[in-house]
Amino acid sequence: MIVKPHMTQHELVDAEPMVSTSATVARKEAMDKRREVTVRRAAKRLLREHDREAWVDEVMLTDDVDWERLWELVHDHAVGGRLEKTFRTLQGRYERANPSLVRIRFDPESEFDCEPGEYITVHYQHVPRAYSVASSPNRDHMEICVRRVPGGRLSTQLCDRLSSGDEIGVRGPFSGEFVGGEFLLQERSERDVAFLATGTGVAPFKSMIDYAFEEGFDEYAGGKRNIWLFLGASWEDDLPYHREFRTLADERENFHYVPTLSRETTLSEWDGETAYTQYTFATYLDREKTAVAELPDDVRPFIDEEPKYDIDARIDPNNLELYACGINLMVYGIVSVAEAVGVPAKLIRGEGYG
Ligand SMILES: Cc1cc2nc3c(=O)[nH]c(=O)nc-3n(C[C@H](O)[C@H](O)[C@H](O)COP(=O)(O)OP(=O)(O)OC[C@H]3O[C@@H](n4cnc5c(N)ncnc54)[C@H](O)[C@@H]3O)c2cc1C
Repeated sequence: MIVKPHMTQHELVDAEPMVSTSATVARKEAMDKRREVTVRRAAKRLLREHDREAWVDEVMLTDDVDWERLWELVHDHAVGGRLEKTFRTLQGRYERANPSLVRIRFDPESEFDCEPGEYITVHYQHVPRAYSVASSPNRDHMEICVRRVPGGRLSTQLCDRLSSGDEIGVRGPFSGEFVGGEFLLQERSERDVAFLATGTGVAPFKSMIDYAFEEGFDEYAGGKRNIWLFLGASWEDDLPYHREFRTLADERENFHYVPTLSRETTLSEWDGETAYTQYTFATYLDREKTAVAELPDDVRPFIDEEPKYDIDARIDPNNLELYACGINLMVYGIVSVAEAVGVPAKLIRGEGYG
């Protein structure tokens, strides 16, 4: 695995900007939802399923949950294990700030050419941070998508304060080289393509995927290439551009969208994939063409899992280029699985967010 040192946020800002401009925010939209009512319903159901009906009246207030009382009861009755863990998950979701995921569209004042996969630094209230460009270069606006980091200096401001009409500073574009070569779409070829991301790590892939279909990158020598997107998150409303990707998958038979959610089943009837992204990737591999014995022990069982989505295609790792993006640890995890199953190292690209 070739891991290149990433510029720190300060080094990025000091780097000679190709373009430095101000931009006006045209639209800001929350992508996640308030789900307190759903959490209350799920907590109530859970108490009943575990014969704790008597707690319901004590804990479920008219329009709130008395979490303190719940934890007293949990402690007094020595409830532990899975149930306690599920309540912690539900409380975390209940109390989380909204919005925690926003898309921000802006119009730079001057010409701003950007290739799919590149990122920019956004400057707001004197704080600069890097964000991948989520819009295709063919659009006349630019878009980023930002996840709130609790206590974070800029992401909280972008979620809470920024509004339409505000000015932001923009520098760049920059192209990352975290794993493999430049984090840009590679030359058109007969190979299939797999994009793997968690959360906002999908931003550069939104740009690449839109661009690929706009420009016919999904075709080669008269044939169609399969384009896969594996996108992981905790909750369904944490999947950026979920509706758009679903629509694209309905429209294009060679686009396969595989969302995977680790926590959603505690809240809803989610019947899609639930494993980590790299495990889910293994489930859609073509067993005959995969070096199964080379798979790490924790990944191997997933190749025998029945896929949850009605997708006939399977992935031949020997005929694949792969892109991974998200927090560094997750990118390393994906890259090592990809290498183990036989994706050629020179065809693997990764971008790390820190
Ligand atoms: C090339 C690149 C592209 C990026 N693209 C995006 C993007 O498209 N969308 C996006 O939302 N973010 C993206 N990031 C992350 C972004 O630059 C900021 O790091 C993030 O928004 C947090 O900034 P902050 O000022 O709110 O937090 P800070 O005040 O900088 O950090 C607060 C604390 O949170 C930790 N932290 C920082 N970033 C994260 C994180 N992502 N997850 C968990 N903990 C973190 C820090 O270590 C620190 O302890 C990208 C980063 C890089 C390097």
